[in-house]
Amino acid sequence: MNEIQQLYQKIILDHHKNPKNYGTLESPTHELEKDNPICGDRIHLDLKMHGFQVEEIRFTGMGCALCIASASMMTELTVQQNLEEIEELLRYFKEIMDPEGMHNDAKATYNDNLQAFEGIRKYPSRIQCATLPWEALLQVRKLIENRGEATI
Ligand code: ZN
Repeated sequence: MNEIQQLYQKIILDHHKNPKNYGTLESPTHELEKDNPICGDRIHLDLKMHGFQVEEIRFTGMGCALCIASASMMTELTVQQNLEEIEELLRYFKEIMDPEGMHNDAKATYNDNLQAFEGIRKYPSRIQCATLPWEALLQVRKLIENRGEATI
């Protein structure tokens, strides 16, 4: 394992050990849950949304290191972001993990922590572990649109 891979592994393990924004919100506007039966990961999200923008986010759940670390990073990256920006971030995240994808160093500064997941390229069956929290979060769009809650 080279130096950068060791650094990436450390970033993931640190987020797993001390996840950011772990817990619940007192009065969430939305609660979302999603599981990944292949690995046994389950993520629960409490959100405070303002229109299509995330104001506050907390998560609880059980899962492998990849899933928990991804959820932890997600809560840091998505606060004060709107759903379009979050969808864009997820596309970028999937590109990092795509075994067929071209490694695009030009984007490497976009968010260094997400780069830590590039090692998953060798284990494509684990990509679902990392995308699970993001997919859980993006379910909120349907809830907002169905209830007609969002005001822009
Ligand atoms: Zn997993």
